[in-house]
Amino acid sequence: MSDCVFCRIVAGQIPSTRVYEDEEVLGFMDIGHVNPGHVLVAVKKHAENLYALEEPQAAAVARASVRIARAIREAFSPAGLSVYQANGKPAGQTVFHYHLHLVPRHEGDGMQLTWPVKNPPREKLEEYAARIVERLQAARPQG
Ligand code: AMP
Ligand code: ZN
Repeated sequence: MSDCVFCRIVAGQIPSTRVYEDEEVLGFMDIGHVNPGHVLVAVKKHAENLYALEEPQAAAVARASVRIARAIREAFSPAGLSVYQANGKPAGQTVFHYHLHLVPRHEGDGMQLTWPVKNPPREKLEEYAARIVERLQAARPQG
């Protein structure tokens, strides 16, 4: 038996409250509910984090998230919806099987993410961007 809690949920070895399922994705209620309607959208095949996703999994997560988000909006009429996805312990990841959170939001619901803005000069942004673009170009599929 896997020691990954979400693999065990996918396999039906431990209980979950499911709202959505397709070939690649399972949507189920987060037991650590922040607001009513808080859903986790997880890949079925184990991938530790965003970096480890195969592109069809990524596409399937995006498609499922849109569908589930619209259903949450109809069911709960939240004032807003936050999409939260953590990769690595410093980012807040606690279950190391890729998933994202769909969290219905309301004014004053207490959910907070501190956002320590730095506002670097444009030259710095250009320098950071060049580092990313270089890697994206190196990774571009041939043909
Ligand atoms: P994180 O890795 O921080 O993005 O969040 C992991 C989430 O998984 C937490 O919000 C937990 O409440 C949730 N969670 C952990 N175990 C279970 C479980 N057995 N069923 C449903 N949700 C779970
Ligand atoms: Zn897993």
